[in-house]
Amino acid sequence: MDKSWADKNKEIQALLAKEATFKEAIKKLLEFRGELFQQITWIVEAYPDEAFYQMPFAGAKGYHSKTLAYSIWHIYRIEDIVAHEMIAGDEQILFREGFLEKTASPIITTGNELKGEEIAAFSEKLNVKELYLYAKAVKESTDQILSHLQYKDLKKKFTDETKQKLVESKCVSEDENAYWLIDYWCGKDVKGLMQMPFSRHWIMHIEAMLRIKDRLCKLARKGTDPVAICGLSCSHCFLGAWCGGCRTAYNTCSCAIYSAGRICPNVKCCKEKNIDACYECGELETCEKGFFVPSNDGANAAKAQSLYIRKYGKKEFLKIQTRLHEKFEFQKVQEILGQDYKEALRILEENR
Ligand code: SF4
Ligand code: SF4
Repeated sequence: MDKSWADKNKEIQALLAKEATFKEAIKKLLEFRGELFQQITWIVEAYPDEAFYQMPFAGAKGYHSKTLAYSIWHIYRIEDIVAHEMIAGDEQILFREGFLEKTASPIITTGNELKGEEIAAFSEKLNVKELYLYAKAVKESTDQILSHLQYKDLKKKFTDETKQKLVESKCVSEDENAYWLIDYWCGKDVKGLMQMPFSRHWIMHIEAMLRIKDRLCKLARKGTDPVAICGLSCSHCFLGAWCGGCRTAYNTCSCAIYSAGRICPNVKCCKEKNIDACYECGELETCEKGFFVPSNDGANAAKAQSLYIRKYGKKEFLKIQTRLHEKFEFQKVQEILGQDYKEALRILEENR
């Protein structure tokens, strides 16, 4: 488990144990859930539709053997059932807010009963944007429930009536891989539910999602040109685990994800001009599009690199990138190339 997430979770559990620190525990739990949910937001904002039904670790043991869409569905279906059928005793968000139709899900269960290809097929049917809105609505609703809890509520146990209600809801499949959940949840008190479906369960599945998307980026990048359209090197980029590169469908560079159609303006422009990349363009020196917008502190370093590629070729450019990383400690290339493209080109040439 991610060390900082494990530490935060541990701290929250310790604070939950005492009445004096209960309110602080809830506050920290809500913050932590916000931090974890941000990972899902970034993934949904950044990745192409196809990413949500790929199983790059199919057959592996562990949560990473699922898909991104399945992971989101599963985390928030469980939370919705537990928060509303068990704790609040009201209607689940899935039905109350029409998300069954909106997400186009063919099931109302947690998905535990699905195996192998069934997971991919189920994931492909889901409307990811609506799935995200469902997850968000469930999270916000649970946050409300959590913020109204009192310390004494933590010890509340569940009766056979709750168990029967869960059975009748048909939200847990009768498949042996799923049905155990009802006994598992009903064997816990409210505190136990907070420790698993509302926190630890998130951590485990979100970590798995990060593994899935890292792998998808790696696979997307395989065999593609690592020289980015703007003049950066995807092979040396500090966002390499997050982004598949601008020559793939997994371009999660901020220039792409915040632009219309999620297409980086530099990529779009080069396509329109039918050129390989900005280094081939006569307007490069004065261009202010996409990555070259003057407010971007990396614009001139990327320009200098494009000029370098123009002069010496991509092979030499990739070599110098490796050399710079061996020689200097830096994340973003502007940290060593600065803000003036002529001076940056001089630094690159000096290090040839
Ligand atoms: S952020 Fe840009 S340079 Fe980095 S990997 Fe993505 S496309 Fe390549
Ligand atoms: S105009 Fe700008 S974005 Fe378009 S190809 Fe030329 S340098 Fe690249």
